[in-house]
Amino acid sequence: ASFEEMGIKEELLRGIYQYGFEKPSAIQQRAVMPIIQGRDVIAQAQSGTGKTSMIALTVCQRVETSIREVQALILSPTRELAAQTEKVILAIGDFINIQAHSWVCDMIKRRTLRTRDIKMLVLDESDEMLSRGFKDQIYDVYRYLPPELQVVLISATLPHEILEMTSKFMTDPVRILV
Ligand code: AMP
Repeated sequence: ASFEEMGIKEELLRGIYQYGFEKPSAIQQRAVMPIIQGRDVIAQAQSGTGKTSMIALTVCQRVETSIREVQALILSPTRELAAQTEKVILAIGDFINIQAHSWVCDMIKRRTLRTRDIKMLVLDESDEMLSRGFKDQIYDVYRYLPPELQVVLISATLPHEILEMTSKFMTDPVRILV
């Protein structure tokens, strides 16, 4: 399917084309539709597959810009990856008035950020987050999020600890191997 056929909103299509993408990559072909339909998704994918852009475009599609509250949370293993993801969101979302901020986790734990409108949690490079010792932080943040939460988990490998997380956080997930 093309980006249009996926039902992506008009202003976002403009952002995607302006960014230089013409058609979805393999992971985007398979993961975008279930994610924008609100399903939980486990995507086994390496960097370089188009996963960052997939996160950016599904987050931009799911966020309702009329609601001025945080609606999606993306956890990344490094500042560099978080900054890169933020950059792609702002570029692709050029026409939809979206904002992106880092250090949201601290704000959530200090209770200075309202979480009730968060409907989507993305765990990027989950195996990398676990090997950097972020497991407890992920569980901590998850506790503050609303129960009706969509979870998208991306990981190059799926060791036991990741599968444990998927069974705790996810309901009937779609599994995608790229
Ligand atoms: P990512 O894994 O999202 O960082 O993407 C890896 C590289 O592929 C980046 O340079 C992206 O800009 C590029 N890329 C991602 N998705 C697409 C697409 N649908 N069409 C063309 N290039 C893409």
